Amino acid sequence: MKKINVLGSTGSIGTQTLEVITELNKWQVQALSAYKNIDLLEEQIKRHQPQIAVVVDEDAAYELDQRIKGSKTEVLTGVKGLNEIAGQKNIDLVLNAIVGAAGLAPSIAALKAGNKLALANKETLVSGGPLVKKIASEKNVQILPVDSEHNAIFQLLTGHKEELSEIILTASGGPFFNHTLSELESVSVAEALKHPNWEMGSKITIDSATFMNKGLEVIEAHWLFNVDYDNIKVAVHPQSIIHSMIRLNDGSLLAELGPANMKLPIQFCLTYPERKSSSVKHLDLFSFNALEFKRPDHSKFPALKLAYAAGRAGGTLPAVLNAANEVAVANFLKGIVPFMAISSIVAQVMEKHNNTLDPDLGTIFTADKWARQQAEEVINKWY
Ligand code: NDP
Repeated sequence: MKKINVLGSTGSIGTQTLEVITELNKWQVQALSAYKNIDLLEEQIKRHQPQIAVVVDEDAAYELDQRIKGSKTEVLTGVKGLNEIAGQKNIDLVLNAIVGAAGLAPSIAALKAGNKLALANKETLVSGGPLVKKIASEKNVQILPVDSEHNAIFQLLTGHKEELSEIILTASGGPFFNHTLSELESVSVAEALKHPNWEMGSKITIDSATFMNKGLEVIEAHWLFNVDYDNIKVAVHPQSIIHSMIRLNDGSLLAELGPANMKLPIQFCLTYPERKSSSVKHLDLFSFNALEFKRPDHSKFPALKLAYAAGRAGGTLPAVLNAANEVAVANFLKGIVPFMAISSIVAQVMEKHNNTLDPDLGTIFTADKWARQQAEEVINKWY
Protein backbone atom coordinates (compact mmCIF):
# COMPACT_ATOMS: atom_id res chain seq x y z
CA MET A 1 0.00 0.00 0.00
CA LYS A 2 1.18 3.53 -0.77
CA LYS A 3 0.91 6.20 1.91
CA ILE A 4 -1.08 9.42 1.51
CA ASN A 5 -1.87 12.44 3.69
CA VAL A 6 -5.07 14.31 2.77
CA LEU A 7 -5.22 17.93 3.91
CA GLY A 8 -8.70 19.46 3.92
CA SER A 9 -10.28 16.00 3.99
CA THR A 10 -13.68 17.29 5.17
CA GLY A 11 -14.21 19.54 2.13
CA SER A 12 -15.67 18.88 -1.30
CA ILE A 13 -12.35 17.74 -2.84
CA GLY A 14 -11.24 16.04 0.40
CA THR A 15 -14.34 13.83 0.68
CA GLN A 16 -14.19 12.91 -3.01
CA THR A 17 -10.50 12.05 -2.58
CA LEU A 18 -11.35 9.64 0.24
CA GLU A 19 -14.02 8.04 -1.98
CA VAL A 20 -11.45 7.54 -4.75
CA ILE A 21 -8.96 6.13 -2.22
CA THR A 22 -11.58 3.60 -1.06
CA GLU A 23 -12.39 2.64 -4.67
CA LEU A 24 -8.74 2.24 -5.71
CA ASN A 25 -7.81 0.18 -2.62
CA LYS A 26 -4.11 0.98 -3.12
CA TRP A 27 -3.57 3.75 -0.58
CA GLN A 28 -3.20 3.82 3.19
CA VAL A 29 -4.31 7.15 4.69
CA GLN A 30 -1.67 8.26 7.20
CA ALA A 31 -3.10 11.68 8.12
CA LEU A 32 -6.25 13.76 7.63
CA SER A 33 -7.05 17.38 8.42
CA ALA A 34 -9.99 19.73 8.91
CA TYR A 35 -10.43 23.29 10.09
CA LYS A 36 -13.12 22.42 12.65
CA ASN A 37 -15.67 19.98 11.18
CA ILE A 38 -14.89 17.26 13.73
CA ASP A 39 -18.15 15.36 13.21
CA LEU A 40 -17.17 14.45 9.67
CA LEU A 41 -13.50 14.08 10.58
CA GLU A 42 -14.42 11.60 13.32
CA GLU A 43 -16.31 9.47 10.76
CA GLN A 44 -13.31 9.64 8.40
CA ILE A 45 -10.97 8.59 11.22
CA LYS A 46 -13.16 5.55 12.01
CA ARG A 47 -13.12 4.50 8.38
CA HIS A 48 -9.48 5.21 7.43
CA GLN A 49 -7.66 4.79 10.79
CA PRO A 50 -4.97 7.42 10.16
CA GLN A 51 -1.98 7.85 12.49
CA ILE A 52 -2.64 11.59 12.79
CA ALA A 53 -5.66 13.90 12.51
CA VAL A 54 -5.11 17.65 12.48
CA VAL A 55 -7.84 20.07 13.53
CA VAL A 56 -6.71 23.65 13.01
CA ASP A 57 -9.18 25.13 15.49
CA GLU A 58 -7.81 24.42 19.00
CA ASP A 59 -11.14 24.01 20.82
CA ALA A 60 -12.43 21.61 18.17
CA ALA A 61 -9.12 19.70 18.33
CA TYR A 62 -9.50 19.30 22.10
CA GLU A 63 -13.06 18.02 21.68
CA LEU A 64 -12.04 15.51 18.99
CA ASP A 65 -9.19 14.32 21.20
CA GLN A 66 -11.71 13.61 23.99
CA ARG A 67 -14.07 11.83 21.61
CA ILE A 68 -11.48 9.43 20.15
CA LYS A 69 -9.45 8.76 23.31
CA GLY A 70 -8.02 5.25 23.19
CA SER A 71 -7.94 5.07 19.38
CA LYS A 72 -4.63 4.82 17.51
CA THR A 73 -5.09 8.29 15.98
CA GLU A 74 -3.14 11.17 17.51
CA VAL A 75 -4.79 14.62 17.32
CA LEU A 76 -2.64 17.64 16.45
CA THR A 77 -3.73 21.24 16.09
CA GLY A 78 -2.93 24.55 14.43
CA VAL A 79 -0.89 25.43 11.38
CA LYS A 80 2.02 23.63 13.06
CA GLY A 81 0.03 20.40 12.91
CA LEU A 82 -0.76 20.94 9.22
CA ASN A 83 2.88 21.60 8.39
CA GLU A 84 3.88 18.50 10.34
CA ILE A 85 1.65 16.14 8.35
CA ALA A 86 2.51 17.88 5.06
CA GLY A 87 6.22 17.39 5.73
CA GLN A 88 5.93 13.89 7.25
CA LYS A 89 8.64 11.41 6.24
CA ASN A 90 7.98 8.25 4.20
CA ILE A 91 4.84 9.56 2.53
CA ASP A 92 4.18 8.81 -1.15
CA LEU A 93 1.77 11.69 -1.77
CA VAL A 94 0.37 14.74 0.00
CA LEU A 95 -2.96 15.92 -1.42
CA ASN A 96 -3.68 19.52 -0.46
CA ALA A 97 -7.42 20.28 -0.60
CA ILE A 98 -7.43 23.13 1.93
CA VAL A 99 -9.33 26.22 0.77
CA GLY A 100 -7.64 29.62 0.59
CA ALA A 101 -4.16 30.99 1.27
CA ALA A 102 -4.06 28.80 4.40
CA GLY A 103 -2.94 26.07 1.99
CA LEU A 104 0.31 27.81 1.06
CA ALA A 105 2.43 26.97 4.13
CA PRO A 106 1.54 23.23 4.12
CA SER A 107 2.29 23.04 0.37
CA ILE A 108 5.73 24.52 1.03
CA ALA A 109 6.26 22.15 3.99
CA ALA A 110 5.41 19.18 1.73
CA LEU A 111 7.77 20.28 -1.04
CA LYS A 112 10.62 21.11 1.37
CA ALA A 113 10.34 17.58 2.76
CA GLY A 114 10.55 16.24 -0.81
CA ASN A 115 6.96 14.95 -0.75
CA LYS A 116 5.14 14.68 -4.07
CA LEU A 117 2.21 17.11 -4.01
CA ALA A 118 -1.24 16.72 -5.58
CA LEU A 119 -2.49 20.28 -5.54
CA ALA A 120 -6.16 21.24 -5.44
CA ASN A 121 -5.42 24.38 -3.39
CA LYS A 122 -4.96 26.82 -6.29
CA GLU A 123 -4.26 29.66 -3.85
CA THR A 124 -0.84 28.04 -3.19
CA LEU A 125 0.42 28.98 -6.66
CA VAL A 126 -1.48 32.27 -6.80
CA SER A 127 0.03 33.60 -3.57
CA GLY A 128 3.40 31.88 -3.66
CA GLY A 129 3.99 30.83 -7.29
CA PRO A 130 7.69 31.69 -7.76
CA LEU A 131 8.70 30.46 -4.30
CA VAL A 132 6.75 27.22 -4.64
CA LYS A 133 8.23 26.51 -8.07
CA LYS A 134 11.74 27.26 -6.82
CA ILE A 135 11.44 24.84 -3.90
CA ALA A 136 9.83 22.15 -6.10
CA SER A 137 12.67 22.42 -8.58
CA GLU A 138 15.41 22.50 -5.91
CA LYS A 139 13.94 19.38 -4.31
CA ASN A 140 13.10 17.83 -7.68
CA VAL A 141 9.51 17.21 -6.55
CA GLN A 142 6.58 16.92 -8.89
CA ILE A 143 3.37 18.94 -8.45
CA LEU A 144 0.34 17.12 -9.86
CA PRO A 145 -2.60 19.45 -10.61
CA VAL A 146 -5.99 18.34 -9.24
CA ASP A 147 -7.92 21.33 -10.61
CA SER A 148 -9.85 19.90 -13.59
CA GLU A 149 -8.60 22.47 -16.12
CA HIS A 150 -4.96 22.07 -15.14
CA ASN A 151 -5.29 18.34 -14.86
CA ALA A 152 -6.65 18.36 -18.43
CA ILE A 153 -3.71 20.46 -19.66
CA PHE A 154 -1.27 18.23 -17.76
CA GLN A 155 -2.75 15.21 -19.60
CA LEU A 156 -2.76 16.99 -22.98
CA LEU A 157 0.85 18.13 -22.69
CA THR A 158 2.23 14.60 -22.59
CA GLY A 159 4.57 14.44 -25.58
CA HIS A 160 3.73 18.03 -26.64
CA LYS A 161 5.60 20.29 -24.19
CA GLU A 162 8.01 21.55 -26.85
CA GLU A 163 5.21 22.25 -29.36
CA LEU A 164 2.90 24.21 -27.03
CA SER A 165 1.79 27.56 -28.42
CA GLU A 166 -1.09 28.48 -26.08
CA ILE A 167 -3.32 27.23 -23.30
CA ILE A 168 -7.08 27.73 -23.48
CA LEU A 169 -8.75 27.42 -20.09
CA THR A 170 -12.46 26.74 -20.35
CA ALA A 171 -14.92 28.39 -17.95
CA SER A 172 -18.53 27.39 -17.41
CA GLY A 173 -19.52 31.05 -17.09
CA GLY A 174 -21.14 30.38 -13.73
CA PRO A 175 -24.79 31.04 -12.90
CA PHE A 176 -24.85 34.68 -14.05
CA PHE A 177 -23.11 34.72 -17.42
CA ASN A 178 -26.29 35.85 -19.20
CA HIS A 179 -27.37 38.34 -16.52
CA THR A 180 -27.37 42.06 -17.32
CA LEU A 181 -25.27 44.43 -15.22
CA SER A 182 -28.37 45.67 -13.42
CA GLU A 183 -29.53 42.11 -12.69
CA LEU A 184 -26.08 41.36 -11.25
CA GLU A 185 -26.51 44.21 -8.73
CA SER A 186 -29.17 42.28 -6.84
CA VAL A 187 -28.24 38.59 -7.06
CA SER A 188 -28.62 36.68 -3.79
CA VAL A 189 -26.14 34.43 -1.97
CA ALA A 190 -28.40 31.42 -2.63
CA GLU A 191 -28.44 32.17 -6.38
CA ALA A 192 -24.66 32.61 -6.47
CA LEU A 193 -24.18 29.27 -4.70
CA LYS A 194 -26.13 27.44 -7.43
CA HIS A 195 -23.40 26.51 -9.89
CA PRO A 196 -24.89 25.20 -13.15
CA ASN A 197 -22.49 22.24 -13.62
CA TRP A 198 -20.19 21.61 -10.63
CA GLU A 199 -20.79 20.89 -6.93
CA MET A 200 -17.98 22.53 -4.98
CA GLY A 201 -17.18 24.29 -1.71
CA SER A 202 -18.81 27.70 -1.19
CA LYS A 203 -15.69 29.85 -1.75
CA ILE A 204 -14.81 28.41 -5.16
CA THR A 205 -18.51 28.47 -6.17
CA ILE A 206 -18.66 32.22 -5.56
CA ASP A 207 -15.28 32.65 -7.31
CA SER A 208 -16.79 30.85 -10.31
CA ALA A 209 -19.73 33.24 -10.34
CA THR A 210 -17.46 36.34 -10.31
CA PHE A 211 -14.88 34.80 -12.73
CA MET A 212 -12.20 35.24 -10.05
CA ASN A 213 -11.86 31.46 -10.10
CA LYS A 214 -10.78 31.62 -13.73
CA GLY A 215 -8.42 34.47 -12.89
CA LEU A 216 -6.81 32.42 -10.12
CA GLU A 217 -6.56 29.53 -12.58
CA VAL A 218 -4.78 31.72 -15.14
CA ILE A 219 -2.09 32.47 -12.54
CA GLU A 220 -2.01 28.81 -11.48
CA ALA A 221 -1.53 27.74 -15.14
CA HIS A 222 1.27 30.28 -15.60
CA TRP A 223 3.27 28.72 -12.76
CA LEU A 224 2.38 25.09 -13.38
CA PHE A 225 3.18 25.09 -17.10
CA ASN A 226 5.63 27.98 -17.39
CA VAL A 227 3.55 29.79 -20.04
CA ASP A 228 3.42 33.57 -20.61
CA TYR A 229 0.17 35.31 -19.67
CA ASP A 230 -0.23 36.40 -23.33
CA ASN A 231 -0.48 32.73 -24.25
CA ILE A 232 -3.10 31.78 -21.66
CA LYS A 233 -6.62 32.39 -22.98
CA VAL A 234 -10.04 31.86 -21.45
CA ALA A 235 -13.07 30.56 -23.36
CA VAL A 236 -16.50 30.40 -21.79
CA HIS A 237 -17.89 26.95 -22.51
CA PRO A 238 -21.25 26.60 -20.75
CA GLN A 239 -21.51 22.81 -21.15
CA SER A 240 -18.30 22.17 -19.07
CA ILE A 241 -17.54 19.11 -21.22
CA ILE A 242 -14.19 20.28 -22.53
CA HIS A 243 -12.09 20.83 -19.42
CA SER A 244 -9.40 22.79 -21.25
CA MET A 245 -7.43 22.84 -24.49
CA ILE A 246 -3.92 23.39 -25.77
CA ARG A 247 -2.97 24.82 -29.16
CA LEU A 248 0.20 23.45 -30.71
CA ASN A 249 2.67 25.33 -32.93
CA ASP A 250 1.03 24.00 -36.13
CA GLY A 251 -2.37 25.33 -34.97
CA SER A 252 -3.82 21.96 -33.92
CA LEU A 253 -6.11 22.18 -30.91
CA LEU A 254 -6.13 19.31 -28.43
CA ALA A 255 -8.98 19.05 -25.93
CA GLU A 256 -9.76 16.87 -22.92
CA LEU A 257 -13.45 15.98 -22.57
CA GLY A 258 -15.28 14.33 -19.73
CA PRO A 259 -18.16 14.54 -17.27
CA ALA A 260 -18.09 17.37 -14.71
CA ASN A 261 -16.86 15.14 -11.91
CA MET A 262 -13.74 15.91 -9.85
CA LYS A 263 -13.22 12.24 -9.05
CA LEU A 264 -11.58 11.78 -12.45
CA PRO A 265 -8.77 14.36 -12.06
CA ILE A 266 -8.33 13.28 -8.42
CA GLN A 267 -7.97 9.66 -9.52
CA PHE A 268 -5.50 10.58 -12.26
CA CYS A 269 -3.27 12.20 -9.61
CA LEU A 270 -3.50 9.05 -7.48
CA THR A 271 -2.74 6.59 -10.28
CA TYR A 272 -0.34 8.75 -12.36
CA PRO A 273 1.43 7.84 -14.58
CA GLU A 274 -0.95 4.91 -14.95
CA ARG A 275 -4.69 4.97 -15.49
CA LYS A 276 -7.25 2.73 -13.83
CA SER A 277 -10.94 2.14 -14.49
CA SER A 278 -13.22 4.46 -12.55
CA SER A 279 -16.71 4.37 -11.09
CA VAL A 280 -17.48 7.72 -12.74
CA LYS A 281 -20.18 7.37 -15.41
CA HIS A 282 -18.63 7.78 -18.85
CA LEU A 283 -19.58 10.81 -20.92
CA ASP A 284 -22.34 10.03 -23.40
CA LEU A 285 -21.48 11.93 -26.59
CA PHE A 286 -25.11 11.90 -27.68
CA SER A 287 -26.42 13.40 -24.45
CA PHE A 288 -25.65 17.00 -25.44
CA ASN A 289 -26.54 18.95 -28.56
CA ALA A 290 -23.71 21.43 -28.90
CA LEU A 291 -20.38 22.59 -27.59
CA GLU A 292 -20.45 26.38 -27.37
CA PHE A 293 -17.61 28.87 -26.87
CA LYS A 294 -18.01 32.52 -25.92
CA ARG A 295 -15.65 35.33 -24.97
CA PRO A 296 -15.53 36.37 -21.30
CA ASP A 297 -17.41 39.62 -20.61
CA HIS A 298 -14.97 41.85 -18.74
CA SER A 299 -17.46 44.66 -18.17
CA LYS A 300 -19.76 42.39 -16.16
CA PHE A 301 -17.00 40.25 -14.62
CA PRO A 302 -13.93 42.45 -13.99
CA ALA A 303 -12.22 39.90 -11.70
CA LEU A 304 -10.58 38.07 -14.59
CA LYS A 305 -8.73 41.19 -15.77
CA LEU A 306 -7.68 41.98 -12.20
CA ALA A 307 -6.10 38.54 -11.96
CA TYR A 308 -4.27 38.90 -15.28
CA ALA A 309 -2.95 42.28 -14.07
CA ALA A 310 -1.83 40.85 -10.73
CA GLY A 311 -0.23 37.84 -12.40
CA ARG A 312 1.65 40.01 -14.91
CA ALA A 313 2.87 42.36 -12.16
CA GLY A 314 4.02 39.41 -10.03
CA GLY A 315 5.65 39.98 -6.62
CA THR A 316 3.21 40.27 -3.74
CA LEU A 317 0.31 41.56 -5.87
CA PRO A 318 -1.21 38.12 -6.63
CA ALA A 319 -1.21 37.30 -2.88
CA VAL A 320 -2.94 40.64 -2.27
CA LEU A 321 -5.54 39.93 -4.98
CA ASN A 322 -6.21 36.54 -3.41
CA ALA A 323 -6.41 37.70 0.20
CA ALA A 324 -8.69 40.66 -0.61
CA ASN A 325 -10.89 38.31 -2.60
CA GLU A 326 -11.11 35.82 0.31
CA VAL A 327 -12.30 38.60 2.62
CA ALA A 328 -14.75 40.01 0.06
CA VAL A 329 -16.23 36.56 -0.68
CA ALA A 330 -16.58 35.76 3.04
CA ASN A 331 -18.45 39.05 3.50
CA PHE A 332 -20.68 38.37 0.49
CA LEU A 333 -21.53 34.93 1.94
CA LYS A 334 -22.48 36.64 5.23
CA GLY A 335 -24.79 38.99 3.32
CA ILE A 336 -22.74 42.08 4.20
CA VAL A 337 -21.59 43.13 0.72
CA PRO A 338 -23.42 42.78 -2.61
CA PHE A 339 -22.13 40.50 -5.37
CA MET A 340 -20.72 43.28 -7.56
CA ALA A 341 -18.75 44.67 -4.61
CA ILE A 342 -16.45 41.64 -4.56
CA SER A 343 -14.34 42.69 -7.56
CA SER A 344 -14.53 46.33 -6.59
CA ILE A 345 -13.10 45.61 -3.11
CA VAL A 346 -10.27 43.57 -4.66
CA ALA A 347 -9.52 46.38 -7.16
CA GLN A 348 -9.40 49.02 -4.41
CA VAL A 349 -6.99 46.97 -2.28
CA MET A 350 -4.74 46.19 -5.28
CA GLU A 351 -4.67 49.88 -6.15
CA LYS A 352 -3.27 50.77 -2.70
CA HIS A 353 -0.59 48.08 -2.66
CA ASN A 354 3.15 48.82 -2.90
CA ASN A 355 4.28 45.73 -4.74
CA THR A 356 7.37 43.84 -3.52
CA LEU A 357 9.08 41.77 -6.18
CA ASP A 358 10.77 38.42 -5.40
CA PRO A 359 9.10 38.08 -1.99
CA ASP A 360 10.09 35.42 0.53
CA LEU A 361 7.43 33.55 2.49
CA GLY A 362 7.40 36.09 5.33
CA THR A 363 6.85 38.95 2.87
CA ILE A 364 3.99 37.06 1.21
CA PHE A 365 2.33 36.48 4.61
CA THR A 366 2.76 40.17 5.49
CA ALA A 367 1.18 41.23 2.18
CA ASP A 368 -1.66 38.74 2.70
CA LYS A 369 -2.36 40.12 6.19
CA TRP A 370 -2.16 43.70 4.97
CA ALA A 371 -4.62 42.98 2.14
CA ARG A 372 -7.09 41.37 4.54
CA GLN A 373 -6.99 44.45 6.81
CA GLN A 374 -7.38 46.78 3.83
CA ALA A 375 -10.33 44.80 2.49
CA GLU A 376 -12.02 44.94 5.92
CA GLU A 377 -11.44 48.71 6.00
CA VAL A 378 -13.01 49.17 2.57
CA ILE A 379 -15.99 47.06 3.68
CA ASN A 380 -16.40 48.94 6.97
CA LYS A 381 -16.29 52.26 5.14
CA TRP A 382 -18.79 51.44 2.38
CA TYR A 383 -21.10 48.67 3.67
P1 NDP B 1 -14.26 23.24 0.89
O1 NDP B 1 -14.64 24.54 1.47
O2 NDP B 1 -15.32 22.28 0.51
O3 NDP B 1 -13.25 22.47 1.90
C1 NDP B 1 -12.14 23.13 2.42
C2 NDP B 1 -11.34 22.23 3.35
O4 NDP B 1 -10.31 23.02 3.95
C3 NDP B 1 -12.14 21.66 4.52
O5 NDP B 1 -11.58 20.45 4.93
C4 NDP B 1 -11.96 22.72 5.60
O6 NDP B 1 -12.17 22.23 6.92
C5 NDP B 1 -10.50 23.08 5.38
N1 NDP B 1 -10.17 24.44 5.80
C6 NDP B 1 -10.94 25.55 5.71
N2 NDP B 1 -10.28 26.63 6.20
C7 NDP B 1 -9.07 26.18 6.61
C8 NDP B 1 -7.93 26.81 7.21
N3 NDP B 1 -7.92 28.13 7.48
N4 NDP B 1 -6.87 26.04 7.49
C9 NDP B 1 -6.87 24.71 7.24
N5 NDP B 1 -7.91 24.05 6.67
C10 NDP B 1 -8.99 24.80 6.34
O7 NDP B 1 -13.33 23.56 -0.37
P2 NDP B 1 -13.19 22.76 -1.74
O8 NDP B 1 -12.95 21.32 -1.47
O9 NDP B 1 -14.27 23.16 -2.67
O10 NDP B 1 -11.86 23.41 -2.34
C11 NDP B 1 -10.59 23.13 -1.80
C12 NDP B 1 -9.53 23.69 -2.74
O11 NDP B 1 -9.61 23.01 -3.99
C13 NDP B 1 -9.73 25.18 -3.07
O12 NDP B 1 -8.49 25.79 -3.22
C14 NDP B 1 -10.46 25.16 -4.41
O13 NDP B 1 -10.21 26.32 -5.17
C15 NDP B 1 -9.83 23.94 -5.06
N6 NDP B 1 -10.67 23.29 -6.05
C16 NDP B 1 -11.90 22.81 -5.70
C17 NDP B 1 -12.71 22.19 -6.63
C18 NDP B 1 -14.03 21.60 -6.25
O14 NDP B 1 -14.68 20.95 -7.10
N7 NDP B 1 -14.49 21.74 -5.01
C19 NDP B 1 -12.28 22.07 -8.04
C20 NDP B 1 -10.95 22.55 -8.27
C21 NDP B 1 -10.18 23.15 -7.32
P3 NDP B 1 -13.66 22.32 7.62
O15 NDP B 1 -14.50 21.35 6.84
O16 NDP B 1 -13.43 21.92 9.02
O17 NDP B 1 -14.10 23.75 7.46
